[in-house]
Amino acid sequence: MTEFTVRTRRTRELVDITDRVQEAVRASGVREGICCVYVPHATAGVVVNENDDPQVCEDLLDALAKLFPDGVWRHDRVDNNASAHLKAAVTGPGQVIPVADGRLALGRWQAVMLAEFDGPRDRRVIVVVR
Ligand code: ZN
Repeated sequence: MTEFTVRTRRTRELVDITDRVQEAVRASGVREGICCVYVPHATAGVVVNENDDPQVCEDLLDALAKLFPDGVWRHDRVDNNASAHLKAAVTGPGQVIPVADGRLALGRWQAVMLAEFDGPRDRRVIVVVR
């Protein structure tokens, strides 16, 4: 198991962590298997999608903001971040990616991204390769 920290800079953003996950795969020595990328947080997630055009990330954040507006949920009376929890729940806390020939078997346009919904914060990323 590998763990690293990502310091996010905005309230909501997607941070490309593909290179750091790929490095964990390389260090594991696994040639064929699976890579689990997981964030142990209730207001962040992991997304695999396009980052070649970063506007895709902005569109995803905008779409989630339309689905889950701020300030209208029960949990907002507790600590005012219910929409961040809902976005994280829909995104999911992790992804499993095949490993082939010692590398993440990502498609040409796919990247692995930490999804921050209640930043800025330090976020832990756990990577298990088997
Ligand atoms: Zn909360």
